[in-house]
Amino acid sequence: MHKTVPIALFGFAVLIAAALFGLSPESSNEDTNATELINVNSLVEIPPSPSVDQFGFVVGEWEVTEDIIRRNESLYIILSRFNVSPQKIYQIQQEASGRVNFNRLIPGQSYRIYSKQDEPRAFVWHYSNTDYVTIRWDQDDVHVEENRLPIEHREERTAAIIETSLYDAVDDQNASQLLGYKLSEIFGWEVDFFSLQRGDHFKAVYDNRYANGRFIGLGDIKVAEFQHRGDVFRAYFFDNGERAGYFDKNGNSLQKKLLKAPFRYSQRISSGFTRNRFHPILRQNRPHYGTDYAAPTGTPVIAVGDGVIIEAQRRGGNGNIVQIRHNSTYTTAYLHLNGFASGIRRGVEVKQGDVIGYVGQTGLATGPHLCYRMYVNDRPVNSQRIDLPASESLETDYMSQFLGEVYRLDMLLDDVNLEQRQNLALQD
Ligand SMILES: [Zn+2]
Repeated sequence: MHKTVPIALFGFAVLIAAALFGLSPESSNEDTNATELINVNSLVEIPPSPSVDQFGFVVGEWEVTEDIIRRNESLYIILSRFNVSPQKIYQIQQEASGRVNFNRLIPGQSYRIYSKQDEPRAFVWHYSNTDYVTIRWDQDDVHVEENRLPIEHREERTAAIIETSLYDAVDDQNASQLLGYKLSEIFGWEVDFFSLQRGDHFKAVYDNRYANGRFIGLGDIKVAEFQHRGDVFRAYFFDNGERAGYFDKNGNSLQKKLLKAPFRYSQRISSGFTRNRFHPILRQNRPHYGTDYAAPTGTPVIAVGDGVIIEAQRRGGNGNIVQIRHNSTYTTAYLHLNGFASGIRRGVEVKQGDVIGYVGQTGLATGPHLCYRMYVNDRPVNSQRIDLPASESLETDYMSQFLGEVYRLDMLLDDVNLEQRQNLALQD
């Protein structure tokens, strides 16, 4: 459409000029060229740009059937139902082989069939929020294309006072539960998320990600505040290409080299570290050199820090055990696992947050739980009490750039009102 605008304006201007100079388009020979330019009929020949749907098909040209993949449905079954010939389906499979794996058709994924005059001519397999495969065919050819919908970021803000739990507070704001998880990750070293109190609060300015107008996930938290027992903490996201992460206003990293607990979500501690405790199975007093988390069987257990797996096997009363050596000082151990995550074996390097196994009750255990142990120079320490090493603070060279960000982000956050329900899209 906008192509026609300049031409129309130009034509209009020429008409005005003609009127001002008292010339009608036909009035003189010198104006022959001008009459051609301003001929309105020529404008009609410029077609308006057609509107296409999110997969690029011209709206109005196609009959569209949208459905979801059901149990035991294959590409063959679906296309046959739309009367695509077995020969054509075979040709499609040949063309797609090595590029698209139709064995990954999973119940619940959506697809579309595009037809013209009742004849199916294209299949769009929309297998994730953003990714899709388009197959078009005619009498002779088949074209297979892998595509991705553009992701749009919208800035949002959420604030809440905690009444019952962080989970409920986030839920009441209709925000993604990942927001609570990310907040507990960011503030995990300042705030003890196991002892949140009524009246604690958080504020956050962050991105939500959308594809085709649909919410597909949480993006980065840009700045957030957490108030716990009267102390207020702020975290600022900074990324200059060299260094990225969350920092306090002085440029100290909020991330630690080791997480406080080997879980993504808070889990209840059923038994703490003690030099002397009555062992329920051995029925005698024994020291407990770890922290037991009463988590359901199958709960993912994550590595608390980067390191190398030095043990991943079944060993007596420990059951399935993983040990990670983080550096020359710190080692952590994870006991009674139901099983190991794939690829976890001795000698493998892991990153902080990688899933290493799943909660179970193998070995000497009365119920599903994780026994988590930390060693400093091979001596057991209480992971709950120990002051763990922080990641490096921001380099001096980046400080002026960072302080500019802090100024900007503080203003954003100061704008977030705690009293009233928020979570408004700023754009759109
Ligand atoms: Zn234990």
